[in-house]
Amino acid sequence: MPVESTISKTDYFIDLENQYGAHNYHPLPVVLKKGKGIFVWDVEEKKYYDFLSAYSAVNQGHCHPKIIQTLTKQAHTLTLTSRAFHSEAMAQFTQYITKYFGYDKVLPMNTGAEAVETALKLCRHWGYAVKRIPENKAKIIVCSGNFHGRTLRIISFSTDLAAKKEFGPYLPGFEIIPYNNLPALAEALKDENVAGFLVEPIQGEAGVKVPDSGYLSKTKQYCTDANVLFIGDEIQTGLCRTGRMLCCDHENVRPDILILGKALSGGTIPVSAVLADDQIMLTIKPGEHGSTYGGNPLACKVAISALEILKDEHLAENAEALGNYFREELLRINSIYIKEVRGKGLLNAVIINHKDPGAAWKLCLELKRNGLLAKPTHGDKIRFAPPLCISKEAISNCIKIIKKSLKVLN
Ligand code: PLP
Repeated sequence: MPVESTISKTDYFIDLENQYGAHNYHPLPVVLKKGKGIFVWDVEEKKYYDFLSAYSAVNQGHCHPKIIQTLTKQAHTLTLTSRAFHSEAMAQFTQYITKYFGYDKVLPMNTGAEAVETALKLCRHWGYAVKRIPENKAKIIVCSGNFHGRTLRIISFSTDLAAKKEFGPYLPGFEIIPYNNLPALAEALKDENVAGFLVEPIQGEAGVKVPDSGYLSKTKQYCTDANVLFIGDEIQTGLCRTGRMLCCDHENVRPDILILGKALSGGTIPVSAVLADDQIMLTIKPGEHGSTYGGNPLACKVAISALEILKDEHLAENAEALGNYFREELLRINSIYIKEVRGKGLLNAVIINHKDPGAAWKLCLELKRNGLLAKPTHGDKIRFAPPLCISKEAISNCIKIIKKSLKVLN
């Protein structure tokens, strides 16, 4: 920033980014420069509670010392080999994560969207090789309101106009059914060419839509009965966020294909993974899929540490207990502006009740002013998802901030 500048640091960096960066997001007007645990600091040195956790990527807390130690140590040792060669770290990671989640095999990727793409390819491959679906006829069932990433194929089956408008033509092979609707799934499964059912155990981006109790276990049973793969996208809901290691664990459901991302690196580098048993995973042969950075040694070491922390620090238990406390306390505020509080563990949302369609945004600006960062989604919903290492005392302080901030809507 030039020394003679008269505008605030915040405005300076926002202007800079607006001038040179694509305008594909609508961020809150805050410029962050530091993070530690549940807190982040902006360029004016103001401190905030982070109630987004980078969309649940920072479950372990910002710059967790153990992850940063692993990251820096491995960064000095070996970062990338490509999959043209084996690496010590990748071998260790494959054993660690498959034993951790109880699957035969893992296929490591980088971003969440890549892992979803991988799962879809894997599912189609299984559909042809094992289920014997006629060539090019495989179908995958998805749900309305889904969010699985931003690639062309994934937005092809999005129901969010903003995500897909003027990005066509779209890729075929998907059937969209309503979320949380068992009869619709039963009907769709009558088609023998269905290879898989891709589902978020809670729809995070849609505004933390929690399906009815029993939905996951019943959909899994329907899929098993129809010889269709249940593909669980746990990129946002997994890794202790909802009070269990996986959100599917709430109903003792084991996805046939499990997709993980985000907190798999505790918010440091993009690491994602697809897990499945041999009968599914080994349908992919050498040369049929891959990624230069997928399974790189740096990512593998970081992911092992990130997974260790989840168990060592009992983050699922903390998310469960403090999630219950948070929702109870939110309801106790008893504000006319809160239409609904929903969520599981520390993945929560409030639905704002106000005649002004900009009320949720206005409230987020006031929360920011009062030292708490959260972001509206789909207009009237605000997601509250702090790092899972948060304490009861901190939650209590944040409830006070939320209560005070709601007054801005008067
Ligand atoms: N799937 C789910 C359920 C997500 O919430 C997201 C991101 O928010 C993705 C996939 C895509 O992950 P990424 O942004 O890392 O590509």
